Amino acid sequence: MPAILLDGNKIASEIRAEVASEVKAMMAAGVRPGLAVVLVGHHPASEIYVRGKVKSSEQLGIYSEQHTPLETASTAQLLNLIADLNRRNEIDGILVQLPLPSQVDSKKILMAVDPAKDVDGFHPMNVGLLSTQRPGLVPCTPAGIIEILNRSHIAIAGREAVVVGRSDIVGKPVAMLLLNANATVTVCHSKTRDLPDVCRRADILVAAIGRAGMITRDYVKPGATVIDVGMNKVTDRAEFDRLFAGNPKREETFRTKGAVLAGDVHPEVIAVAGAITPVPGGVGPLTIAMLMANTVRAARLRRGVPAPSGAR
Ligand code: NAP
Repeated sequence: MPAILLDGNKIASEIRAEVASEVKAMMAAGVRPGLAVVLVGHHPASEIYVRGKVKSSEQLGIYSEQHTPLETASTAQLLNLIADLNRRNEIDGILVQLPLPSQVDSKKILMAVDPAKDVDGFHPMNVGLLSTQRPGLVPCTPAGIIEILNRSHIAIAGREAVVVGRSDIVGKPVAMLLLNANATVTVCHSKTRDLPDVCRRADILVAAIGRAGMITRDYVKPGATVIDVGMNKVTDRAEFDRLFAGNPKREETFRTKGAVLAGDVHPEVIAVAGAITPVPGGVGPLTIAMLMANTVRAARLRRGVPAPSGAR
């Protein structure tokens, strides 16, 4: 039996509706959550992401503003901008879109964001809060993965979770969240030996690698839940055929656009897994939804607005 598809669009729209109603209640109490997005220079993919974030804020009633320093901006100029955003009370969330230009000290910039406004959850203070299970701001994509599991009634406690990838943005925080939810967690990376063997232990397998279709069926225990975080642009014909041969819809996209989006999990895994997130339409939609949720949460925590029942 093919795997159940975990519909990220549906889960993201549930979360967005919850956030919108929370924003409405906060506005009635005189608080409008505010998000500032900083986009330095011109980076086409980043511009698309930022547009999505600003549009989504507007749809949910969150105040948003965009700052677009020039590509040549210095670390000092960006530190000034962050200091100004830190000071402004109507700004609850500050998001610095990565990557920053090479002349900028990215770590210094991310360290300068007030941890209470760090809606990306990348500040070491929030990393520490997460690892010691204290309330803080959690990175959006990992938080979204936990929402997918919880809202799909996939048990985490006591189960074997294997995370492939150890980035600060996805791999490490999702491993920490799974551990906090009482899974037995293994984190793999490029130096892991016998990777398929380790992955086959997983009841929950998270692939956050950045390699199209690397996780084939021999990495997956029958019935496992597979979370595919990868977002890879496939432009090579042979690579396309390895992943999507015989798929007319993808063929049409590849023919007209010259590229398709592929996850880190090979489509053949659908025949083995119990449940799986598709790409596109799985983890991706949760990332922006959780950014909105984090902005509202930051506003609530920082401005002392009581939490609605069942709030994150
Ligand atoms: P990253 O920083 O490049 O990290 C990739 C990780 O994969 C590293 O830990 C690396 O190991 C590991 N890795 C690479 N090749 C491997 C191999 N052959 N075997 C085992 N491990 C290997 O990437 P990231 O930022 O975490 O992103 C991962 C993927 O998720 C990308 O496709 C990205 O586009 C996608 N993503 C999606 C969303 C979303 O909203 N859906 C959000 C963020 C990221 P080492 O540490 O040993 O190098």
